[in-house]
Amino acid sequence: EVRVRIAPSPTGDPHIGTAYIALFNYVFTKKHNGKFIIRIEDTDQKRYRADSEAMILSALKWVGIQWDEGPDIGGPYAPYKQSERKDSYREYAEVLVNKGHAYRCFCTPQRLDELRKAQQAQKLPPGYDRLCRDLPKEDADKKLAQNIPHVIRMKMPMTGKTIFKDTLRGNIEFENDGVDDQVLLKTDGFPTYHLAVVVDDHQMKITHVIRGEEWISSTPKHVMLYEMFGWEQPEFCHLPLLRNSDKSKISKRKNPTSINYYRRKGILPSALRNFLALMGWNFGDNREMFSTNEMIEGFTWDRMTLGGPVFDLKKLAWLNGQYLKQDSNEKWLANLKEVVFNDEYLLKIIPLIKERVEKFEDFIDNTAFFFQGDLSYNNAPLIPKGRTASEVMGYLNDLVLKLDVCENWKHDEIHNIFNEYLSEKGLKPKDVFMPMRVAVTGSKETPPLFECIEVLGKDIVQRRTRLAID
Ligand code: ATP
Ligand code: GLU
Repeated sequence: EVRVRIAPSPTGDPHIGTAYIALFNYVFTKKHNGKFIIRIEDTDQKRYRADSEAMILSALKWVGIQWDEGPDIGGPYAPYKQSERKDSYREYAEVLVNKGHAYRCFCTPQRLDELRKAQQAQKLPPGYDRLCRDLPKEDADKKLAQNIPHVIRMKMPMTGKTIFKDTLRGNIEFENDGVDDQVLLKTDGFPTYHLAVVVDDHQMKITHVIRGEEWISSTPKHVMLYEMFGWEQPEFCHLPLLRNSDKSKISKRKNPTSINYYRRKGILPSALRNFLALMGWNFGDNREMFSTNEMIEGFTWDRMTLGGPVFDLKKLAWLNGQYLKQDSNEKWLANLKEVVFNDEYLLKIIPLIKERVEKFEDFIDNTAFFFQGDLSYNNAPLIPKGRTASEVMGYLNDLVLKLDVCENWKHDEIHNIFNEYLSEKGLKPKDVFMPMRVAVTGSKETPPLFECIEVLGKDIVQRRTRLAID
């Protein structure tokens, strides 16, 4: 049975790249009547964000990709969250130590830091210098008994090559001496991605690992771990990454990367799936509009192209328009009520404008920016007196970054973030508040700024601010 998975890390907003990788996993496995699994990789405590897992699941549900096993619905290999599987990673790391394929490393963070700096200064490639690799067993045992903090590292062979077959690229070879002695288990007892991914993919009987191309350089480590454990390897397939128009990896600076943005913008899930499918795949003819079921029917990997697909918002909008055109008036109405004029959203806007409006007919004039797409800034200048354009752009840019990590999207919290920034920089409210107001609303007269920012939501606020800066 074909079994595939996506393994998102809950480190932020649900990434459009996750939807893209999920779609190809889903289509491939459905083609073969297999299973699609979601596993949450939450072992990186530093980057963990509590709200992220639920957002990822709900965003993928909206995209319309169904999973057969996952953290919310369980399945035969539960739990589907790595933090709940923690004990098993330690056991497996110990198995490798006992087999002589891994070793305890007692190097302190300070030593590793100095090593890194020295390597940088000499322009040497970064990597562990294997100081603890040949520590005599008695010495290692002694340090262990003394409870000296340590990690477990894999013992990469220092000669030969690791070769694996990539579905889309054929054989890929790595010289073993160029692969680092990767940490497998950290001092805190949490596994690194590399150990956890191999243990879980094996335990969950994953047959095909379909993931982004950024993982190719990690694959030799994974292949070596399968060999060390004596486990059968899955097939590896690395998909091209989505690109900005300048061919750099898609990034928030140039494109909204959160699935939530597209949802809020009134992109239809069917159009988004169709668009993501076109990022690298085609029917072998010039058909551009097709359903996910049609894709499943026609799916083969040889119709995948490897040149970096450009995530073109205009193309997405055009495709969405094609879908909208086909919908009946009734469906249109239903969508409009759900996406644009939904009760929940209107109920957030009403208290902000109640005081400012005398007749219902004034509603649209006063609230248009809550419903519009990208704004134009011709009518309202962004730059307050006494400040230069580049200064103000710098402030807005800083604020976008600060808002990005705001987990509690409420106006008082947002206000705090702004106030902290003002005092950090020694600025006055007018230096920042008015430019921000213009950036997110296109106007100088609006309901209270932070309430507006709360209601508009992070994705739209960030998008507009970035466009205003450009
Ligand atoms: P960073 O910008 O720090 O590299 P990121 O924006 O790439 O982070 P991640 O959290 O690393 O975000 O990635 C989230 C998921 O989206 C991962 O599964 C990753 O493979 C996928 N992903 C990220 N960027 C792309 C991309 N350009 N194309 C396809 N998938 C991507
Ligand atoms: N946790 C990794 C990620 O965030 C999973 C990579 C993989 O699929 O192996 O993308």
